[in-house]
Amino acid sequence: MKKLLLVIFACTLSSVRAQVNQPVLRYSVDLTQTSEDRLSVELVCPPIKEKTITFYIPKTVPGTYSEDNYGRFIVDFRAFDKKGKPLKAYRTDQNGWMIKQATKLARITYKVNDTFDAREFSDKPVFEPAGTNIEKDTVYLINQHGFFGYFPGYEKAGYEISIKHRPDFYGSTALKDEDPSDVRDIFRTDSYNLLVDSPILYTKPDTSIVKVGSTDVLISVYSPSGNITSSFLAEQVSPLLQAQGKYLGGKLPVDKYAFLVYFDKNPGLSGSEGALEHSYSSVYYFQEYPKEIFGKYFTDIAAHEFFHILTPLNVHAEQIHYFDFNFPQMSRHLWLYEGSTEYHAHIAQVRYGLKTPEEFYQVMSGKVTTSRKHYNDGLSFTDMSAGVLKQYHDQFGNVYEKGALISLCLDILLREESKGEKGLIDLVLALSGKYGKDKPFEDTALFDEIALLSSQSVRNFLVKYVEGSERLPLHEILQKVGLVLEEEKPVKTFNLGNAQMMPENGYLKIVSTEQLNSFGKELGYQLNDILLAINGEDASLKNYGTVRSKWAKSVKEGDELVLTVQRKNGSGEEEQVYLKGKVVPFVSSRFNVISEDPQATEAQQSLRKAWLNQ
Ligand SMILES: [Zn+2]
Repeated sequence: MKKLLLVIFACTLSSVRAQVNQPVLRYSVDLTQTSEDRLSVELVCPPIKEKTITFYIPKTVPGTYSEDNYGRFIVDFRAFDKKGKPLKAYRTDQNGWMIKQATKLARITYKVNDTFDAREFSDKPVFEPAGTNIEKDTVYLINQHGFFGYFPGYEKAGYEISIKHRPDFYGSTALKDEDPSDVRDIFRTDSYNLLVDSPILYTKPDTSIVKVGSTDVLISVYSPSGNITSSFLAEQVSPLLQAQGKYLGGKLPVDKYAFLVYFDKNPGLSGSEGALEHSYSSVYYFQEYPKEIFGKYFTDIAAHEFFHILTPLNVHAEQIHYFDFNFPQMSRHLWLYEGSTEYHAHIAQVRYGLKTPEEFYQVMSGKVTTSRKHYNDGLSFTDMSAGVLKQYHDQFGNVYEKGALISLCLDILLREESKGEKGLIDLVLALSGKYGKDKPFEDTALFDEIALLSSQSVRNFLVKYVEGSERLPLHEILQKVGLVLEEEKPVKTFNLGNAQMMPENGYLKIVSTEQLNSFGKELGYQLNDILLAINGEDASLKNYGTVRSKWAKSVKEGDELVLTVQRKNGSGEEEQVYLKGKVVPFVSSRFNVISEDPQATEAQQSLRKAWLNQ
């Protein structure tokens, strides 16, 4: 997950047939028959051996690290025998229904409310990428765990999902539709895990395919305004995927992957946005931003989600492999599943030319600050992981901050030990070669396994700083690659006077002048001014970032700044006004600044080059 967010090498999980004699749960749902954002679900059950059995909808699902109780959204639960006679069923808790005379059980029906509009649960909302949305004739986000349940002991049963839909709707997913008609899809998986791992987005199609080597990457978009299209996102994500392929040693480790991207007109109930990863796909939920500012933001999040194909998919503990959807045990290694994923997402972009080293240092600086300011820096990371659903839930966000910094340290240590040849990615690939998607590691044995593939000193690092609670030795480790970390650094900065601006119709509009500094006051901004140009250069939204940073880099104290703005005059007519002033610097503090040491030795510089592939 990445909040602000299983590789099968030989073949995809799509179209997995139930094995002979494997019990099969046959589900059906008709998207055209909704009422009040509710859908009816029918399950035709396999023969049940037990006298009493409990039907479950998940309490939690992999990747969310939170207890969401998807059973809350189920109403009108009924169980029937072969003749259609009701069987007694009792709700055991939010997510379970105990069925008596289960040997006679033939069919179950219930209705599903979507999570997107569940105002009655707004005190405990579901993070939208893991949620469900049912909007008749518009869009259906099918996160399978919100619609379909399981019987304990039958997790390895086959699942068959039949979905009726409008002929002009397309269900985007990594699964393969096995029904030739254009009003019904049939999907099959051979376990409940794989079903939950394969969300579907139904809407009128806006899809694009990016080819990366032999891999087909589907981008599917639902955008109510049509503002952001799949072809735009495909353009953004294509160079990223090429870089990720190189970082992974030459090609993408999946044949097929799907980005399912949902844009919302209004902020969602959870108040968050981001994404949730799966083995062959990821689901994204965002507000509809102007696409000029959205591209880069999307790229970082997509990079993170895509790298989850390494961990936990191909390297994971038993707790994940035998995931219990209602009585979950957490693995101690979130530093690996989330932290290393976040780190790979950034370092791969530097190593293959999508980010400059300075941009990368800045991202890592931010993580130092956030991990120390907003989280408990003295908490053992393995303890935090094990307790992430309960006592340490509020520390989860640190997996993207300190979790990534742990990986930064490991990467540099591994580069140092191998004289620049090998880094963290090589270790993770070696672990995935040893384990892979079908073979979990023992949670308490991971550090020993890593020691075998690397060194005792890497193990010592993990024991001291990941299992232990000591502060990461960032100074010492960054020094190995000729970088310095300054905890507080006064810097002279230049700005445009600190007017608050918001995007509107492709330009930035002044929405508040309350925080203007002395320079801003001298310039004379007025509310509702629309910024057209900076020193004569076009400052529309798509150019603003470039022009603004070019200016900030070259400007000197005393230079003249001329801003062109559009302003309504006294008689209501639009006119162009020039705001002029002599530039003054402001001194402020920056925290945890990482920069290149001008005194770095040749050895430090060459290790840095090997690390960043520069
Ligand atoms: Zn993640």
